[in-house]
Amino acid sequence: MLKHPRSLPRSINYLFKEQRLLFILVGILIGSTFFIFQPTLSRLNPSDPTTHSSLPSSIYHRNQDSSSGSSGFFSKRTFPGRVPAGIGRKSLRIVVTGGAGFVGSHLVDKLISRGDETNVMGTLNMLGLAKRVGARFLLTSTSEVYGDPLEHPQKETYWGNVNPIGERSCYDEGKRTAETLTMDYHRGADVEVRIARIFNTYGPRMCLDDGRVVSNFVAQVIRKQPMTVYGDGKQTRSFQYVSDLVDGLVALMEGEHVGPFNLGNPGEFTMLELAEVVKETIDSSATIEFKPNTADDPHKRKPDISKAKELLNWEPRISLREGLPLMVNDFRNRILNGDEGKGL
Ligand code: UDP
Repeated sequence: MLKHPRSLPRSINYLFKEQRLLFILVGILIGSTFFIFQPTLSRLNPSDPTTHSSLPSSIYHRNQDSSSGSSGFFSKRTFPGRVPAGIGRKSLRIVVTGGAGFVGSHLVDKLISRGDETNVMGTLNMLGLAKRVGARFLLTSTSEVYGDPLEHPQKETYWGNVNPIGERSCYDEGKRTAETLTMDYHRGADVEVRIARIFNTYGPRMCLDDGRVVSNFVAQVIRKQPMTVYGDGKQTRSFQYVSDLVDGLVALMEGEHVGPFNLGNPGEFTMLELAEVVKETIDSSATIEFKPNTADDPHKRKPDISKAKELLNWEPRISLREGLPLMVNDFRNRILNGDEGKGL
């Protein structure tokens, strides 16, 4: 049976009885104090994109307001967000995202999609964070954005030749999307960004079994196994020593140019030539074994670094023949000490 609704005087009477009103007021006071002294909780502001972790911020704060004068996809509204603990000092606020040869995400098809979908989502999340804390954002993109290039060497102005539905598309298109988002946040949401397109990089402390060609060849020869050359081995890559890349990234972050900048060593080698250098460096009795190549493998890669030379005053200093022995020492130590599989 439905209860008869209370009359107003009876409700007021009920509130005042047994100090109920006092308890309600004390409750409100405690709640308010908690929110005032807990700044992170006050982030529950619906206009702050970073509070909606389940939604990509692109979807969340798409600009419907043409009067804002925003040139990009995102609005120029300012979000008063909070700075997470530990990055209070403005000088510490640098956000880095991207893989670009540091992750072996293109080893297996499934990993391609997982690795590089994460790249898109990760980039979005990190751009949201950069926006919130006022950080300078570095996207470590990759030469993969050029796909199987029809222009050689590749300049930053080249738009690339990418298969959008192939086996390595999640990787290539993932990185291209990450660049798009980064530029859009820069134009439309005032995030300060830098973009580096990193070409094949090698050096000590790489993961021994990440499937990259330099680490594969070096580990194989140290283990007295044949070097696995995919396809006919005539495809080319340009190999950069890791410290050159680090110098380039530092110059990029300290400079005022957004990029994208190619960061790579223009020294170009076929895989057969690389195998020869590895053989000379480690063991003259090393052999080669040919294996089928992966789908859509780019035929050639060589960075045009004139833009980085001119605007960042940067160029690589360490040739493959100088850098390879440094990597070999580290690989040899780890393999001989049974430290296999460990690395970055
Ligand atoms: N590659 C090879 N043997 C290997 C691993 C890779 O011949 O054991 C070839 C691969 O087919 C590609 C090139 O080396 O043409 C560079 O491959 P990597 O994965 O190092 O870099 P990316 O393709 O991303 O430039």
